[in-house]
Amino acid sequence: MLPALEALDHAAITAWLKETDEHVLEALWARADEVRRVHVGDEVHLRGLVEITNYCVRQCAYCGIAACAGPLPRYRMTHDEILACARQGRDLGFGTIVLQGGEDPGTTGAFVDGVVRAIKDETGAAITLSLGEPGQTATSCDSRPPIRISTAASIRACPARCRTASAS
Ligand code: SF4
Repeated sequence: MLPALEALDHAAITAWLKETDEHVLEALWARADEVRRVHVGDEVHLRGLVEITNYCVRQCAYCGIAACAGPLPRYRMTHDEILACARQGRDLGFGTIVLQGGEDPGTTGAFVDGVVRAIKDETGAAITLSLGEPGQTATSCDSRPPIRISTAASIRACPARCRTASAS
C-alpha cells in the first residue's frame, strides 16, 4: 500500500524509482492508474507535439538527427513560429503542447522560458518540455555513422524524453 503522494519524500521516491520487482510495482502502477482516472478519466487526451529544433549535440547511434547524422538540413524554429503552432494546437483542441527537440545549445533556457510564458498566456495549455539537458557540450563525431531506424523525427525514441518537465 502506497502512502499519500504528499507523504512521499526524496528517499521514498528514489526507492520506488529503483524498484524492479514487478509484484511490488503493481501497487505503484495501480496508484498511478487511480490518479490518472481521477484527473483525466477514461478519455483519450491528445498532445500537440512541436519539434522546435533538430540540432543536437548528442550522438545516439539510432537517431536520425544526432550530431553527426548527415548530410541533414538543420532548423531551429523562432519564437513566433512556435507560438503559431501552439495557437493551431489550441484551435485543434489539444490541451497539452509538447515542445520537443534535440539537445540544442542554440535553444537557450531564456528562449524556452519566453516561449513557454507566451504559450501559457495565449492558450492556457499545459506544456511539456522534451529538450534534453541544458548546457550540454558538443560530442565528437564517431567514425562510425549513426544507425538510422526512422526518418520521422516526431516518432523517434529519444532519451531526452526521459527527462521531461511539465508545466500545468
Ligand atoms: S535521441 Fe535525442 S538526445 Fe539522442 S541524438 Fe537524437 S535528439 Fe539527440
